[in-house]
Amino acid sequence: MKAENWILNFSQERHPLLIAGPCSAESPEQLMMVAQAVKSMGIQVMRAGVWKPRTRPDSFEGKGAEALQWIRDVKKETGLAFATEVASPSHVQLACEAGIEILWIGARSTVNPFTVQEIADSLKGIDKIVLVKNPINPDLALWIGALERLNRAGITKLGAIHRGFSSFQKSRYRNQPLWQIPLELKTRYPQIPMIGDPSHIAGNRDMILEVSQKALDLDYDGLMIETHPDPDRALSDAQQQVTPDRLLEIVRHLQIRDRSSSDAVFVNQLVNLREKIDHLDQELIEILSNRMKLAEKIGDYKKENQVTVFQIERWNEIMKTRPEWARLAELNGDFIRELYKIIHDESIRIQTEIMNKESETKS
Ligand code: PEP
Ligand code: MN
Repeated sequence: MKAENWILNFSQERHPLLIAGPCSAESPEQLMMVAQAVKSMGIQVMRAGVWKPRTRPDSFEGKGAEALQWIRDVKKETGLAFATEVASPSHVQLACEAGIEILWIGARSTVNPFTVQEIADSLKGIDKIVLVKNPINPDLALWIGALERLNRAGITKLGAIHRGFSSFQKSRYRNQPLWQIPLELKTRYPQIPMIGDPSHIAGNRDMILEVSQKALDLDYDGLMIETHPDPDRALSDAQQQVTPDRLLEIVRHLQIRDRSSSDAVFVNQLVNLREKIDHLDQELIEILSNRMKLAEKIGDYKKENQVTVFQIERWNEIMKTRPEWARLAELNGDFIRELYKIIHDESIRIQTEIMNKESETKS
């Protein structure tokens, strides 16, 4: 994908890019109040939903085109740049006419390639920044696919927004972050800025700082934080919006760590520690190789004695004892449980191969 780094236009030396503003534009007064507060904090981009995709009918669906006039007025008064969600070609047209600088595709649109393609087609020949929220389901290919459709339509100022993934399971998050998915996207397309959306991940205002910090520690390029003058009375996403005062506190608390340091002591120490890790990893691989060789022997032995590869009692014993040993060694039990599932899968694969090979030679 051919992408340009548009983030520098807004943030220059400042990292990360902050986007703040209400879930939805509700009234001219609400929008202006947030805009003035946001501007006084040195934030340059404001968000405001104009058309709201709601899960259930009869929820507040945004003020629509009427809100675009309020955005125009706020832009004129404050000079702030704006970001809003578009879900159809007519949204694109109206948002562009209103001079909105950043468009984003919402999580419910990213899941639908027809919708994304229509939006992409409507953007042909238009030089806009377009951000793509992750799809509501944990499917990296869909997320990438949407970015590719836009890129093929000529959009090079692309960005991704990580807003978490819905799940039937109860969790402390409104949308589970599944950090490995955005990290995979970042690894494959390092040129596409990644923006965290702690508001939609957390779903409640008490967790915004924690989720924002985590995103910054994973080297995200920006954060989008829903901000409302009176969050409890917000017409959408009331629980997760913060007041401008709270936003200021969050911004002040956030630790912005350097990507790297050229300090010689730091670099030396890092090289030292990494060398130690390299040695340990070599040992770890040797141990795993020895363990798999034993699994092979067991496979031969089971075959000779006509015993099944998988034995539930043995597996239960491993899953009981290893996390206990791990705790004694100050390791996280869940981590060891997950690790043993992978190791056990590989043992079974090796043993199954042995069984099949032998029966092939016999037949
Ligand atoms: C929003 O940003 O207010 C929104 C509707 O987000 P999402 O598409 O992530 O649900
Ligand atoms: Mn919202």
